[in-house]
Amino acid sequence: MKRATPFEFGGAIIKPGERATVEIPMARLYTSNEMTLPVQVVHGRRQGPTLFVSAAVHGDEINGVEIIRRLLASRTMNNLRGTLLAIPVVNPFGFIQRSRYLPDRRDLNRSFPGSAKGSLAGRLAHVFMTEIAARCDFGIDLHTGSNFRSNLPQIRACLDDPKTLELASAFGAPVVVPSELREGSLREAVAALGKPVLVFEGGEALYFNESVIRTGLKGIFRLLRHTGMLAASKRAKTRESIITNRTSWVRAGMSGIFSRKVQLGGFVKKRAQLGVLSDPLGDEQEVITAPFTGVVIGQLNLPLAHEGDALIHLARVPDPDEAEEALDEYTSSLTDEDFGLER
Ligand SMILES: [Zn+2]
Repeated sequence: MKRATPFEFGGAIIKPGERATVEIPMARLYTSNEMTLPVQVVHGRRQGPTLFVSAAVHGDEINGVEIIRRLLASRTMNNLRGTLLAIPVVNPFGFIQRSRYLPDRRDLNRSFPGSAKGSLAGRLAHVFMTEIAARCDFGIDLHTGSNFRSNLPQIRACLDDPKTLELASAFGAPVVVPSELREGSLREAVAALGKPVLVFEGGEALYFNESVIRTGLKGIFRLLRHTGMLAASKRAKTRESIITNRTSWVRAGMSGIFSRKVQLGGFVKKRAQLGVLSDPLGDEQEVITAPFTGVVIGQLNLPLAHEGDALIHLARVPDPDEAEEALDEYTSSLTDEDFGLER
């Protein structure tokens, strides 16, 4: 393995085997305070690929921020081959305001690739694309559910691309969801550069979900080993993901209070009861049932729903028995001991 050469980034020069936090300038606040996008560069002693790991593109999705914090704190990262660009808070404006959006009320993940002369969101997207995405061979963007909804840990990616499919499988999340194009998303913009990109989704906005954080962190370590950025480990177990071929949100047919009968990772048969919607007096009721046999990959946590609101996100699986077994394995595998690799 060849020794790496110094890595130039945002005006800094990072020598092989060193790390540095580099502040990329972005639009300043109207108080005249400078605003920057902090990026931690971990530059390995030996040559290898360059990977970005980003979080809080939606400013209230903080599980990914904690995943990156633990990743950077891990001593294993001292043995990195290649270079990691870690961006725990891509949308600092939203993060400060505990909001999904930017101060101009735009969704950053609908503003990619952006431009230097565009909206505030577009300019931030442009900074990310030119300073970070352009320097990387592949990337992972970390998200959570929104609007009081939580997601089972899952990878979303364009599986038509063989390299992306390989990385999505190597990550080993419980579920892999082939994702449609999202106009203006980071994922779409980076994929358009011909670079594989995974979106990890798990948990709920503004919460830390420990199992989600652990699953995300373990997946990143698996990916680092798979791509040769970390040495293979005999202790590390690979994990099969369930690849779904269809997902669908089951919606409320009437406005009401939702009493949920299933939970994330749960396996349901077609026409099984997912929950009951009722008005506060209990005069009217609607039993919500599964339109097909599948796994619950998203759920509404706040039980108040208007007609048409999304209640349960269901994923169809090719082999229900295999899926049930794999999910059992996932839920029972989440122990502290199992998580020893980052110490
Ligand atoms: Zn998000």
